[in-house]
Amino acid sequence: MLSAIRDRLGADQAQLMQALALDPCDARLETQLLMAAALGVNRAWLLAHGEEMLAPAAAARYADLLERRLAGEPIAYIFGAKEFYGLMFKVSPAVLIPRPETELLVELALARIAADRPCRVLDLGTGSGIIAVTLARLRPLAELVALDVSPAALALAQENARNLEASNVQFIESDWFSALGSVGKFDVIVSNPPYVSAGDPHLAHGDLRFEPPHALAAGPSGRSALARIIAQAAPNMATAGTLLLEHGYDQGEYTRAALQQAGFHQCVTYHDLAGVERVTLGTVG
Ligand code: GLN
Repeated sequence: MLSAIRDRLGADQAQLMQALALDPCDARLETQLLMAAALGVNRAWLLAHGEEMLAPAAAARYADLLERRLAGEPIAYIFGAKEFYGLMFKVSPAVLIPRPETELLVELALARIAADRPCRVLDLGTGSGIIAVTLARLRPLAELVALDVSPAALALAQENARNLEASNVQFIESDWFSALGSVGKFDVIVSNPPYVSAGDPHLAHGDLRFEPPHALAAGPSGRSALARIIAQAAPNMATAGTLLLEHGYDQGEYTRAALQQAGFHQCVTYHDLAGVERVTLGTVG
């Protein structure tokens, strides 16, 4: 049955809202994004051409995309892309979907990476490479090393570095520090490790169901990756180097204490835009 674009969007917005318990604004935006992708147009075009009939081939493409979204697949995986810090990154189910709170980690790291001279920076568990690639582009004199235990994640991160012309990043397959070898000491180490507790009910809801569990969950307390990084970081750091860690809303106190115990000082926690403790840093030496 032929239908006008506007009517289709209206009906499907309601269906999506109900199926995924989205708020109306998100459901509207998502149906428009799916329709725009099926038609090969932008959202402005859609709004101006709402009265037009949907051609059968476009309707079929749209129906496929909508069906995937109705089954819960995250919009970022359907499109294979997600914006972070103003850059468009390729993503896949091999990596976590970039989240806005990680921009805080990038901002805090940027403030500690000199723009006018070389600086060595390590990104642990790089995933799609958003942190390393963003820092590399904004600090062209910095030398970055990005590591991940997952070969599929590393391949994607490398592709993002190529697409976004970040040539100052070296990629290494490594389970945290274990395969790092003697690449030297770092002035800044940054990580958004898995930090959700393995039993957290959120893992069974929404986008998280489709994301790689090893990139989200870290043992029963959610602290195992943070603990390992904190315990092993210092020998890999230059004098006065800074370690910056993203963590859960309730892990600030733990992270500060663990850093202090490992010999870090000036340990401070920063809040994200939602007002929760999100990034803790400490200085060594
Ligand atoms: N902030 C993410 C979430 O709670 C978790 C990201 C992570 O584990 N690094 O969905």
